[in-house]
Formats: sequence, structure tokens, C-alpha cells
Amino acid sequence: MGAGAKTDLGVVVDALELPIVVLNTDATLAGFNAAAKSLLALTTSTVGRSLREADAVTGLMPDIEELTEHLLAGGAASQRELRTKNGSWFVVRATPQLGAQEKITGIILTFTNVTGFRASIEQAIYEREYTKTILNTVIDPLVVLDTDLRVQTANKAFYVVFHLSRQDGYGTVLSDLGNGEWNISRLLTHLRATLTGADSDLEPIEIEMEIPTVGCRMMRFNARTLFGGERRPRMILLTAEDVTEQRRAERAIRERYAQFETLLSEAPLGVYLVDDAFRIRAVNPKALPVFGDIPDLIGRDFDEVVHLLWPDHYADEIVARFRHTLETGDPYLVPETNGDRRDRDVREHYEWQISRIPLPDGRRGIVCYFREISAQVAAREALAENERRLIEASHRKDEFLATLAHELRNPLMPIRLTLTRMRRAGLTTSAIGNQLAMIDRQATNLQRIVDDLLEVSRITSGKIELKRERLDLVSAVNNAIESVRGLITQRKHAVSVTLPLGPAFLLADPLRIDQVLTNLLVNAVKYTDPGGRIWISLECKADEFEIRIRDEGIGIPEDMLPRIFEMFEQGRRDLARSTGGLGIGLSIVKKLTELHGGTIAAVSGGTGKGSEFTLRLPAGPEPAMIVVAPADPSRIAPGAVAPRRILVVDDNVDGADSFAGILRDLGHDVRVVNEGQAALRMNSEWQAEIVFLDIGLPGMDGYEVARQIRLQNTAACLVALTGYDHASARSRSFEAGFAQHLVKPPALGTILAVLDSLEAVTHN
Ligand code: ADP
Repeated sequence: MGAGAKTDLGVVVDALELPIVVLNTDATLAGFNAAAKSLLALTTSTVGRSLREADAVTGLMPDIEELTEHLLAGGAASQRELRTKNGSWFVVRATPQLGAQEKITGIILTFTNVTGFRASIEQAIYEREYTKTILNTVIDPLVVLDTDLRVQTANKAFYVVFHLSRQDGYGTVLSDLGNGEWNISRLLTHLRATLTGADSDLEPIEIEMEIPTVGCRMMRFNARTLFGGERRPRMILLTAEDVTEQRRAERAIRERYAQFETLLSEAPLGVYLVDDAFRIRAVNPKALPVFGDIPDLIGRDFDEVVHLLWPDHYADEIVARFRHTLETGDPYLVPETNGDRRDRDVREHYEWQISRIPLPDGRRGIVCYFREISAQVAAREALAENERRLIEASHRKDEFLATLAHELRNPLMPIRLTLTRMRRAGLTTSAIGNQLAMIDRQATNLQRIVDDLLEVSRITSGKIELKRERLDLVSAVNNAIESVRGLITQRKHAVSVTLPLGPAFLLADPLRIDQVLTNLLVNAVKYTDPGGRIWISLECKADEFEIRIRDEGIGIPEDMLPRIFEMFEQGRRDLARSTGGLGIGLSIVKKLTELHGGTIAAVSGGTGKGSEFTLRLPAGPEPAMIVVAPADPSRIAPGAVAPRRILVVDDNVDGADSFAGILRDLGHDVRVVNEGQAALRMNSEWQAEIVFLDIGLPGMDGYEVARQIRLQNTAACLVALTGYDHASARSRSFEAGFAQHLVKPPALGTILAVLDSLEAVTHN
């Protein structure tokens, strides 16, 4: 020891690895061993100098000085952990060197390097703190158990959540914790299973636990075993999570979905749900068939599914509609749509509707309600097709009736004209007079039927035109009564008539009003047994006229009343009461009345109780009277007119001859031909002044004949003779150059009027 005196002890001390320095009481260096020499970088020359001067490298001096001063001042031996400049740690211990009488003769300093030790201590402290911090930062309760399931440590949350005190914790077997609430065999078994390590991936388990003061909670336990060397289990980390609310919410959603599904399954419509991620979430039984054979429907992408079912353009449209409603919340309704199925070879028709709704789990979604209406559409189309056929059939029937009526006029003309001639020839007084009268009556009946038929075709084709003029309804009623007077007398009815004193003016078509009134009167007469009573009244109301025609006849059954004004509607009649009607009179009456802005209604007490028809017509304004001059009957006498060259052209030989007969009776020079070419020949030879020309001629029709006659002789006056008298037929006649249009069979008065008007034209 020391620089000089190498005692035996000194050699031993020198050999020690522990640095040792001896100081004098004045803190100067007295000696040091080899280890101290290298630690403090001392040299022999430093002996006798202060340690401060001697130690240039460690930087320990200030602290050592403090230590020695404390000792010299009488303090006990002491030590300090000191850090050198290069970061090593030393425990520097100062021990007094005592001489006689325990007097301090020097100080012995030893330097123990504790750097490595400190590092391991620090690491241990750090790790402890680290674990503690982690444990406490874990929000969920966490407990560390040893292999006997004793509590090693637990975080704060563990004590708080399970209402345990810390004293209970350390060293207690888990099952003994608290008031026995941890004695859960399922949990203990689970933990023991984790210890075996056989199944290191044990799933967490959920256990319902009674927690003091809290109550029943659903806890989710997750256990992990930590293994030491040789895979020996060391401890278990057990975490617990309170999943009560989560499970409750999930159950509520499940229940809501279940409710939803019950509602859906009971719905009478197809219903399905699509969520905001466009996944199909529910499909009710009614909707299932529409989705065909698509597997795993629930959860599939709606867009994809729709494209499996429908052609792209249709599917794209559906998807676009769904997206729009999902984004905007606007509901969308499609009353009828159809598409050709991609997965099966059919066209299907649907009615559908979508709305945005909150789904049971709170997300947004789309509900689609739909109904397959293919069957209804098919039925509707069949019905429409049927209706089309019916309309077509009805149209053909109308055409047939029109043709029939027109054709019937041809044979009627010669019959009636011949009758007229015979009567004019004085045959009425002879023996066959009565039979002629009978033929005349029947021909009149026939004429009426034909007129009615024509009227029907005009009504159905909307070709009725009113020629309105100022009309006194009182006279009209009187005239109508007069025209059925014969029939009334024949059936020995008593008629009572109540009319206003003055005239009752309205704007109406006199012919049509007469037709209406006559029809109603004839019915009253027809449908009342002979010797019955009929009441006719006309009343002027504020702005309308009310005509009532009442009889005490056969009456109208209740079930028939509502249909009485329909076409072809007839009451049941026995053969004996056959009246020769067609069941169209009242429908014409109604139509004509309505054309005049009026109404017609029927009441009856029932079969055998008589009937009453009430006709209401709006009263017209009262302008100055327009007087229409009646035809002058005196002109009918032969020789009253200048004779004319008249050519009659008609393929109906009887018709042509009878017509020619009438004209000859009136004193005219008449020639007859039966077809167009003959007419042209005759006219060019003979230069007729007037030509009565049938339109419906075989080969060259009347229009063509007229045109050619015009080319031959422009002076001839052309009169069309035809079964058609609607406006278009008339205007066509005038366009073809006819001066007049005569409807078959023409009445004598009409023939005269036509000749008169031609007279005026040709003489002007
Ligand atoms: P028609 O007399 O040609 O059968 P209508 O259209 O004039 O056709 O009348 C239709 C039906 O209404 C008649 O067949 C008859 O059954 C019933 N009817 C019309 N007027 C009377 C009436 N005054 N009394 C009883 N029945 C009537």
C-alpha cells in the first residue's frame, strides 16, 4: 500500500480489485492501491496532495469532500452512490482510520462499482411500473392469477367494477372473492382449461353474474395463460367486459327484426327490405317467388340480384330508383310496369312502391311493396280485346241496319207512289178501296220502321243535325195528337188534353219535336187496351216546358224502367199484342230530347198500372215571329204547272215506273231508263229539262252519270234520288252538280216542292 512502504498487507491490498484510497486528516492523499490508481488516474507524485488535485478524471471529488468533511466533523462512517463523469456508478464508502484513543488518524475510501447492479434494478423498477401502468390503463377489469387461481394483482377497474376492496384481493383464491359471486363453476373450469394450455385459443365466455349493489350483469371473460420455461404455466391474465347493454341492444334489434318479419310475413303484398349498403335484408313469403331461384338471397347485393332477374335497361332503372329514394327520401310509385324476365321466359307485370325507412337496427333502408298484376293485366287485355270485338260487331250491325234500311226504301217507293196514284185515280171509292187503304196503312207502318232503323244508324254514328227554328210547342202538341188521331179513334181511347192558352215558344227542330211527341203518343195508344184513357198536358214552367203523357195501360215493370230508353229495349209482350215496333222509339226520343237540351223520364206503378212520360224542354227566347209558309195543296191539280221533259233514271223498275207515273199524272212528259248508259243516250237524244237520277245504279253510279250529263247538256236540272239523306250524302250530291237531293220514297208534297224550286231556278 502506498507509494513506498510495501508491507505484506500492502501487497494484499494492492491485489484487491476494490479501489481503496487512504486520506490524511487534512484530506491529502496518504496512499492508494493499484485499482484506485487506475480508477482515479493517480500517480506517486500525487501523494501528499489533495484528492481534488489528484483525481482529474472521475469528477467524484466534490461529493467525496463532502463525505470526508462529514466524517472528520465527527460523523459516523457513511457511503454515497456517486456517478462518475463517464456514467458509471460507484458506492463510495468513507471509513475512519482510528489511532490511539479512537482518534481519527485518516480516512479510508472504498469505491464499489454498482453500475451493472443499478441498471438491473432500474430495469426491474421500470418493468414493474410499466406493468402497473398498463394494468391501470386497461379500462376493463383485469386480474392476474397464479396457477392456483389466486389473485396476484388486479387493476383499479377490477376492484371498482366488481365492488371489491383491495384488501380482499392479493392472495385470495378467485372463487373466494367477494360474497361468493365468483364461485362460478363454468368460469373456474374455463380458467383451468386455459392453464393446461391445450387450447390456447379458448374463446371468451359470457356469464351472467350477480355483482353486489349493481345487480345482474352479463360479463364477457377472456383468459390467457402466460407460460414460463419449459412451457410451464406461470399465471393467467383474466379480463372482464360488461356486455350487458350490448347484448340487450342486440336482443332488442333481434326482437325488432322478428316483429318486422312477422309483419312482413303477414303482409298481403310482396315486401322486401334493402339496406343502405344495398344489401337485401328481408324478403317476405309473398315476395320470394319473384326472386326465383337465386340462392342465399338475404345479404346479397341488390344491384346484382336485380340484374340476374331483368334485362339490363329495366334493372338499371329499378336500381336508379332505389338509389334516388335512398338518397332523397322521396317515395316512388309505379302503378304499372312490365318486363321480360331474364331467368324465365315470361313477361311479368307489376305495381310497386318504394319508401325510405329506418331499419330495425337504426340504419336507413328501402322498403319495396309490390304486387304482381300479370293476371289482371292479361284479364284486362282479354276484356279490351273482347270489347274491341264487340264494338266491331256492333259497328257491323249498325252498318247492316243502315244498309238494310236503305235497301228497304227502294221497294217502298213504288208501293207508296202507286198507292198515291191509285187514290188520285179515284180508286178509293171502288170495291178494292178498303184493301188499298189497308195496304197504305201497312206501307205507312213499314215506312215508319224503316225510318226508325235509319234514325238508329244516324244516332249511333252521331249524324243527327237539328234544324232549329222558332216553334210553338202548343201547336206541335196539337199536330202530334192530330197525326195519331186515327189510331186513337181506332182503339176507342178517351184523350184528355190540357194546354196553356197562349203559345209556348222554343227554338227547336219541328220535325224532331213532332217525332218525339208522336212516338210518346203512339206508345201510350199502343200500350193501352182499347177503350182506355190517355192524359196529355203541357205546362209552362219558369224556363222550361213540361209535357206529360199519361196512360192507364199495361204499365212498365219496375226492373225494366231504368232501361226503357236503351236501344232495342222492349217489354215482354204476348204475341197478340204484337205492335210491330223495334224497341228503338224511346232511345230515339231520348237522344232527340237531349239534343234539344231537354230531359225525358218515365214512371209507372208497375205492370197493369199505367205509365207516365215527362218531357222537359228548355224554353227559347222570344224573337219576332218567323212565319214559314206551308205548301200550297191547290197546286196538286193536274195542269197546274207547265209540262216539262223529265227523265227518270232508276234501276228499280217498279220504283222508276211509279215515280214516272206520278210525274205524268201531274202533266209532265216523262221518260224512264234503268241504267246509266241508257240515261246518257236518252238525254243526248231528247234533251231532258229535269233528270231524277238514282245514285245507287249498277255499273256507272249516279254521280258519274250526273257528271256525263253535265258534259252533254248543261241546262238539265239534276235531282238525286237516294235512300241516304244524311248531311254528307247531301253535300256529295251538291258537289256532283245535283240541284236537289230527294230521299226515297219522296212524298208527293216534296216532289211538288222540288219541281217548284226547279221552276224558279230554270225560269230565272
Ligand atoms: P217499341 O214500342 O217499338 O217496342 P219503344 O222504344 O218505343 O219501342 O218502347 C220500348 C218499350 O217500352 C216498349 O216495347 C214497351 O215495352 C215499353 N213502353 C213504351 N211506352 C210504354 C207505355 N206508354 N206503356 C207501357 N210500356 C211502354
